[in-house]
Amino acid sequence: MDRVCATGTNRKLTARLHSCYLHRIGARQSKITPMKILIVEDEPKTGDYLKQGLVEAGFVVDLVRDGHDGLHQALTESYELAILDVMLPGLDGWSVLAGIRKAGKETPVLFLSARDQVDDRVKGLELGADDYLVKPFAFSELLARVRTLLRRGAKSSAAEFLRAADLELDLLRRRVSRAGKRIDLTAKEFALLELLLRRQGEVLPRSLIASQVWDMNFDSDTNVIEVAMRRLRAKLDDNFEPKLIRTVRGMGYVLENPDCA
Ligand code: CA
Repeated sequence: MDRVCATGTNRKLTARLHSCYLHRIGARQSKITPMKILIVEDEPKTGDYLKQGLVEAGFVVDLVRDGHDGLHQALTESYELAILDVMLPGLDGWSVLAGIRKAGKETPVLFLSARDQVDDRVKGLELGADDYLVKPFAFSELLARVRTLLRRGAKSSAAEFLRAADLELDLLRRRVSRAGKRIDLTAKEFALLELLLRRQGEVLPRSLIASQVWDMNFDSDTNVIEVAMRRLRAKLDDNFEPKLIRTVRGMGYVLENPDCA
């Protein structure tokens, strides 16, 4: 394999290595950045209890006890989720939500309320709340709902492109190009490439590829993976440099940008 990094010493290479480094640092930081949650709850006991539980679960939590402060926080800070009580001093929870949506913010909102009338739920959901939990509730249930909402939010705001070197995969348009040239892939090849790109630099065992892309067990027919992988490499790597997909004998496959390895 042609390893530019091992031999080159020019400035261009240094710049490229630097950008690889920054790319990695960025990836690492985005992985460990804790999720931020805003709680707007005027009952001291409930607010403190929620805050403590969510902090223990690994979130960064801001707690405010009044509707005006809640709206101000939601608009000036960036949160992955807001938990709003309905009955609040200043502004009620619905007005806080309306203010958030009016400002064009898509922050997921979970309502908490002692009132369990159907009308209240409908009103909250019509205003753009994402979920509704009636007091009293178990903290474990709140935590489960919070995690579901965060997962949903993360998916919708996820990156639209995956890249390695001059290879680009457009998740929305379902298109792949290398060095600006369009490459046509079958649905399975696309799924395979998406998996390789998402786990860039990681050696993926055949068993994992089989379960993730083909939804089948390792034992059923591993030849399918090899054939698909050969076709994918022919399309992506045969006419381009550097080669991005590698077989790691006895272990599996890895996609990596050799310039960054
Ligand atoms: Ca209240």
